[in-house]
Amino acid sequence: MENNSILKEKMTSAPRSPGVYIMRDGEKKVIYVGKANDLKSRIGSYFTGKDTRPMAPFLMARVKNIEFLTTATEKEALILENNLIKQHRPRYNVILRDDKTYYHLTLDPAEIFPRLQLIRKRLNNGALYFGPYPSGQAAKETLRFVQQVFPLRSCRNLDFKLRSRPCLEYQMARCLAPCKGLIDEASYRKLVENTVSFLQGRRRSLIAEIKSQMGEAAQNLNYEEAARLRDRIGALEHVLEKQNVDWAGQHDLDILGVYGYDDVYQVCILFVRAGKLLGSKSFVPVKIKTELSEIVSSCLTQYYYSGAQIPDEIIIPCSLPDQTVIAEWLTDKKEKKVVLNIPARGSKNALLEMAVANARSLLESWQMKENQKKDAIKILQEKLSLAKLPRRIECYDISNISGRYAVGSMVVFQDGEPDKSSYRRFRIKTVQEADDYAMMHEVLSRRFAHSENLPDLVVVDGGKGQLNVALSVLKDLNIKLDVIGLAKEEREIISGKGVIRKKDRKSEDRVYLQQRKDAIYLSAAPQALRIIQQVRDEAHRFALSYHHQLKKNDDLQSILDCIPDIGEVRKKVLLKHFGSVIQVKNATIEELQKVPGIGKELAEKIYAGLQL
Ligand code: SF4
Repeated sequence: MENNSILKEKMTSAPRSPGVYIMRDGEKKVIYVGKANDLKSRIGSYFTGKDTRPMAPFLMARVKNIEFLTTATEKEALILENNLIKQHRPRYNVILRDDKTYYHLTLDPAEIFPRLQLIRKRLNNGALYFGPYPSGQAAKETLRFVQQVFPLRSCRNLDFKLRSRPCLEYQMARCLAPCKGLIDEASYRKLVENTVSFLQGRRRSLIAEIKSQMGEAAQNLNYEEAARLRDRIGALEHVLEKQNVDWAGQHDLDILGVYGYDDVYQVCILFVRAGKLLGSKSFVPVKIKTELSEIVSSCLTQYYYSGAQIPDEIIIPCSLPDQTVIAEWLTDKKEKKVVLNIPARGSKNALLEMAVANARSLLESWQMKENQKKDAIKILQEKLSLAKLPRRIECYDISNISGRYAVGSMVVFQDGEPDKSSYRRFRIKTVQEADDYAMMHEVLSRRFAHSENLPDLVVVDGGKGQLNVALSVLKDLNIKLDVIGLAKEEREIISGKGVIRKKDRKSEDRVYLQQRKDAIYLSAAPQALRIIQQVRDEAHRFALSYHHQLKKNDDLQSILDCIPDIGEVRKKVLLKHFGSVIQVKNATIEELQKVPGIGKELAEKIYAGLQL
């Protein structure tokens, strides 16, 4: 049956209920996931031209099959759609990725004496998260300030438990030493509440609260505590003075600004907490032929789904077809009413304009970098006389210590950007001794035994020897590709008097090409050189991290062997339960206790042994 008739048949059989539809291409790959309140009419809109999104015709040209999953409500469909997008990352869905590493401060109120720590990745674990902070530096500055004003503990749980006396943090007045009972649980809890208020931006009400605590302390003739609270108020008032003007009332707001140009969209979210503009977050620009409303809906569902703090109100730039259901879902998640608002004027509109202006300037600088990358790729092709424009580059490296823990890495750069989903790592299977050439031969033979997704350029880390290995592997497999070797060299710079001046030694990368006997240097084309250096350094990092992982696993196995009461049987049970020694090391005491035959005491011994 012709493809269009199969799809039309699918449309006819689609249920008239809420749910999710999954579109697949000829290779059964999921290329789009959508949700609808009425699946039949939504699928119908693809055939009747009611779906006016610019990408709809492109999508329909590739779809070969549609599946349906019905749900009880549209809200359930929204959650399912989000899960499926995360799982399949379909080509025609809007997928937002962080544009850099964002840092957060976190504390877990479920702990008796919660500790405040700096982390990179937020988890869905019930802890409180503050931020995001755009750099480690910004987060560290806030952490330092918070520790001075609200001296919560910062030590690891094991140290907290095993301390025989307070540590240096106590001497430096950055902790009140709950480890040795120098502060009681109720007072510490109050300190935690104040810290949370501060980090959530509720600084005015916090100052009022601390003033009343100070009054109470003075009444109870606790002058030392009253003086401490006075200093805390002073520090907070100083921060408040430095903050910018009040915005749009006292409640929490996020403002979602989008700037689109030529089917590329940049999103920027501004955070206003208790009337103060606290920070912003942006994503990697999304290249897709779609409408603004789809970008905004996807951003709302993906960003707040990931555990981000949900404010009372979110300012958006346009109305959305699924606005009601998204607002309901956010309200459920926050357990408090959340409003989606499109302001036409006033201070909220000014904030929206600010978010859009930010998005615009981010997109412009991204565009400039993209153009520079394109130019560099063209120069690389020219300088190395490559047959094809090196849009997809694969680079290979080997890592081992005298043949032990031997691994190989393959990294992929597409248009000058790492494509991490295509990386591969290899555990060397056939070479026992330290023979880098033989190892490279094994890695390349395993990779090119499959000829899918062939690169435009292969880079091997090394000189003429490695290059020849790569060429012979490809020749045996009858594959024609451009290959280069990239090797570091220490060049000695000779002074005018013919003396080698050691301090002038410098390392420069040599490029080995198939058709040339001698290496060439790309120092005159730094932008092109930078690309292959980045690819090589990434391959090196990736190989080394796998090599370290294997070695660490082995070292931890030996440590596990040294823990009293851990024999072969218990070791096997632990490894079976957690899957690897690294996972055993990352387990908490409570998680270790869940392993059959491991009681509290033994769990503590294992935990302590592996943290050393
Ligand atoms: S004084 Fe005690 S509780 Fe505070 S950081 Fe040091 S060890 Fe942890």
